[in-house]
Formats: sequence, structure tokens, C-alpha cells
Amino acid sequence: SLQARDIAYTVHPYTNLRQHEQQGPLVITGGKGIYVTDDDGKDYIEGLAGLWCTSLGFSEKRLVEAARRQMERMPYTHTFAGRSSEPVIELAEKLIGIAPAPIRKAYFVNSGSEAIDTAIKLIWYYQNARGLPQKKKIIARQRAYHGITLAGGHLTASLAYTSSGFDLPMMDRFRHVTAPSYYRYGLEGESEAQFVDRLADELEQLILAEGPETVAAFFAEPVQGAGGVIVPPKGYFEKVQAILKKYDVLFVADEVICGFGRTGNWWGCNTFDIAPDLVTCAKQLSSAYLPIAGLLMSDAFYQVLADQSANLGTLGVGYTYGGHPVAAAVALETLKIYESDHTIEHVQAVAPRFLERLRRLESHPLVGEARGVGLIGGIEIVKDKATKEQFDQQLKANAQVVAKCLAHGLILRPLPGDTIGICPPLIISEQEIDLLFDRLEAGLDDAL
Ligand code: PLP
Repeated sequence: SLQARDIAYTVHPYTNLRQHEQQGPLVITGGKGIYVTDDDGKDYIEGLAGLWCTSLGFSEKRLVEAARRQMERMPYTHTFAGRSSEPVIELAEKLIGIAPAPIRKAYFVNSGSEAIDTAIKLIWYYQNARGLPQKKKIIARQRAYHGITLAGGHLTASLAYTSSGFDLPMMDRFRHVTAPSYYRYGLEGESEAQFVDRLADELEQLILAEGPETVAAFFAEPVQGAGGVIVPPKGYFEKVQAILKKYDVLFVADEVICGFGRTGNWWGCNTFDIAPDLVTCAKQLSSAYLPIAGLLMSDAFYQVLADQSANLGTLGVGYTYGGHPVAAAVALETLKIYESDHTIEHVQAVAPRFLERLRRLESHPLVGEARGVGLIGGIEIVKDKATKEQFDQQLKANAQVVAKCLAHGLILRPLPGDTIGICPPLIISEQEIDLLFDRLEAGLDDAL
């Protein structure tokens, strides 16, 4: 069977490998709209859009056609040494047209992790070029997910499941501050505004303790996704940005999940009023039909890189498949579809229904908090709603709920902090939103 061959030959990421040898894989063989089908012919709503990425669902023929056209015309050229292709040029131009100010240039890679890793390397290159070689430390938030490559993995390192067993951290250049979950980290009697002030103060004190001359950049997802869908309180990013500006610290907005409509605007930066120096994006950039990611930068940042590359002779970073013309053509077509089909407006139109059904879950005995914005949501499972006490982590209460939902034909993902992520394709209709939450409620009831 496919199951037996999978067990015999493959190694799976984020999987308990011994358990997998017993259970085998869920083999997905088809997809249509927001649904996927397994090899037994059972349909599921893809409630996490794959891994927060298949914005246009699983049967968008225009993307297939865009890939076919480009493959026939010119399947590959690279971007090293000034080489380029039409899809790359058009995609860069289009991205810069929609990017949040002050972004002006695009650099293409293949995954979110590569975009983050490249950002880190270029920030260090940038600080060296400015004659500030000691300004190298990077601050992220606890429960951040910024990919898993060796440098970027240090930003994600506060999530134990991504770092334990790998000897991270190895470099003393990374720091973490509290994640902006008022529900989980707000203190007894503290208002949301006081919580925001406390977190801003924590960031400032950290920068001062390290020495501002040693702090290069702050990385943040507008909404923290894989760490448990944490939506920042009002005013949080405003305060954070003021501090970063004061100490000449770059703001890197990791838009790998939020970018392209997820929060109801093109970018999470638009939703939360962030003016980033750098932006990383991936996933919904191509609706995940092919791997492609981008590192977008301000003109001020670019000018320093350009001077340094002239001094040193080259900008020494690049990947064979960075700016792959077929992936770029598919990404370009994805952005055109977002415009022609008014995908962002659609998200704005259906988000109230999504958020209303999401918030209704807070009346369920197992749900401590249900939070979201646009078409991204998360629920936090608790044992005691009054005290917010959690179940014993060994129980994996969230994974149990997710398993029950699967039986009801809904794919979701358990996340750290006993949370569950909900992030359907952006094309979801109001009716399908209702069906998704009906199945989620059934799963929660079964888990009681
Ligand atoms: N950044 C964020 C915010 C992510 O959510 C992810 C993946 O989920 C990444 C970076 C890493 O992207 P990839 O898995 O494509 O390397």
C-alpha cells in the first residue's frame, strides 16, 4: 500500500517518527476549492490552507496554465551575476507596487526560512558596511516562528519543539522578548494598555542592557502564526516602532503568513500600521502552487548593500533556484488573480462571519480564548476557564481536538501553548465558513 511504502522509505518533518511507523501517513491525492481528498476518497476542509499557504484553494487552473506557459517558453534561468527573466522583473515590479512603504526592492528565494536567513545575513553585511561591526544582535519574540535554518532557527528557538535536540542556540547574537498575548501573559489586574506599556518597556530595557550599539534588528510576525496565533493588542506595534527608531534598530516584518490578504489587507503591516525596513514573504505569494519567497527592502537599506557590493566586488548570497522563472510566473499570476477576483475585498466581506463563529467558540467549556483577525484564528484549550489553567502538556489536549475534527472532515493544526490554528483558503465562502465551524464544534464536543 502507499501507507506501507511511505513508512518504508520516507522521513517526515515535525513528526514523531516511531509513532509514524505505527500510524502511517494521511495521503492526500486530490483537491478542489477549499477541500482535499485522501486516498480512501474521504473529503476534508483544509482548515489550515495546507501550511497557511494555499490561499486560492486546490484547483486554480489559471496557476496551472501560468506554470505550463512559462515552462514551455523558458523553464529555467538563474539570477546570479545580473541574469534575469521577464517573470522575475514583472513580479518584483508588481510586489513593489503593493508593498508597504518604504519598501522599494525585491530579492527572491525559495522558502520563508531562506528569506529569514538571507535577511539576517544581509543585516550583518549592512551593519559592517556602515562601519558598525558590533551592531549584530537580533531580537525576536517568544513563540515566534521564523523558519528553521541555522541562523533563522535561533529566532524560532524559543519554541522548544523546533530547537530541542539540535544544540541551539549556538550564536550569542539572538534575544527574545515576551509575546504579546494579553490573555496568556497579562498580569492580574493589568489593563491591556498597561500590558502594552510593559512589553514596550521590556524591549527598551533589553536594548539598553545589551547596549543599543550592539542591537541590529527586531523581527516580528504581524500576527504570530505557528506559535499559537497571537494577535497583538491595540497600540503594541506603535510603541515598539518608536523604541526601535530611537535606538537605530531595523524592523523586519515577517509576512510569511500574513502577507497577501490573510489579515484583511494586502499585508499585516497595513493592518497594524507597521513601516518596516525589510519584509519577508512566501506562502500565499504563489498560493503555494510552487515554492517562492521574497525578501523586500527599503531603498535606504538597499543603497548600503549596493555600495558594499561595489567595495567587495559582489553581494555574496544566492540560491540556484532563487527567482526561478516558473515559480515567479505562478506568483505573478497569483497576484493578478488577487486583483482581478478582488480576493482582499472578499476576505474583508467574509471575515466578520469567520470572526463571529470563532468568538462563539469561547462559550465552549474547553476554549479559554478564541482570537483572530481577517481569516486567521486560533483557540486556546484550557482545563479551567476561570483560572486559565491548562491541561497537562503530556495529554496534548489540542492534538486530541484536532484528531476529532479530522474524523469530522476538517483538517486543523495543533500549535504550541495548547492552541489550534484556523486559517482556511482565502476563497472560502460564508457557507463554507459555517461548515468549518460546525465541524470544529463537533470535534470540540467529541473531545469533552
Ligand atoms: N516565517 C513565518 C512567519 C512562518 O510561518 C514560516 C513557516 O511557517 C516561516 C517563516 C518559514 O517558512 P518555510 O517553512 O517556507 O521555510
